[in-house]
Amino acid sequence: MADCYLCGKRAVFRTGAGPLCGEHFSAWYEAGVADAIRRYDMVHSGDRICVGFSGGKDSTVLLEVLCRLHLDAEIIAVTVDEGIGGYRDDTILAAKDTASRLGVEHRIVSFADVCGKTLDELLADSPQAACSVCGTLRRRALNAAAREVSADSIATGHCLDDESQSVVMNYLRGDVTRATASFNSNSADLFIRRIKPLCRSTERATVAYGLCNNLLVPLPECPYTQYALRKDVRAWLGKLEYERPGTLLRIADGQEELLARMPRCEGDVVELGRCERCGEPTANRLCAACQQLERLMR
Ligand code: SF4
Repeated sequence: MADCYLCGKRAVFRTGAGPLCGEHFSAWYEAGVADAIRRYDMVHSGDRICVGFSGGKDSTVLLEVLCRLHLDAEIIAVTVDEGIGGYRDDTILAAKDTASRLGVEHRIVSFADVCGKTLDELLADSPQAACSVCGTLRRRALNAAAREVSADSIATGHCLDDESQSVVMNYLRGDVTRATASFNSNSADLFIRRIKPLCRSTERATVAYGLCNNLLVPLPECPYTQYALRKDVRAWLGKLEYERPGTLLRIADGQEELLARMPRCEGDVVELGRCERCGEPTANRLCAACQQLERLMR
């Protein structure tokens, strides 16, 4: 790779403006995250931010950058232990190391605490449903942990690739409700605000930042990844981004503009209540997590 266009040192990453050395690339990456935080008004003065912290590359970079930005906010890291044999134990060790190095309060909640079983036990007969079950229960565990620490927001390590993949996956599944977010609800009053500070940063840049700053350790891959639709979409969009740089940002920006242009039917508000079993917000008698659990326990 060419030399850094700012200082002439050996470059490690090529940005749209030119190649950058490790130091200038790290500053560029952190400035991009700070821009995203401002653009979407993610952090307010005095906020308590609960960071969903798996110990994997994205959430490790997220936690590091949030600390380096010296926000006027308190940060608490929460790791959800789904109970995935041969995978989660290693990432929890990495998470503990990082949180202690950064001096961040770190809590661990497990599926076994929340619903009495590990993900492996829940999926013994139907591993194909892994990511849908895992995602629903993880959201619930994270919400409960965030409420316990009186958090104002939950920050997750979703990067631009994740956001663009989700847009495409909604269309591939024919999930018009999610693709258009075409309903109004009182959810803002009931759910803890979600923020995604890495949403404008590509996975490639996030990994490069992690490597430049010696944040990453080799970790195993979740054994259930093989069943995930996201895996195929990720490979496909990754190829497109490589051949046509900017594809991921165009997908995310296009979706944002589409939602901004969607007409809202003010009178048609879905009133959310509370799940009669766990108290989480829902439009139904039981929330999605309790419905999942009921199906799996049957
Ligand atoms: Fe959960 Fe699927 Fe991610 Fe594994 S790949 S941690 S099962 S969402």
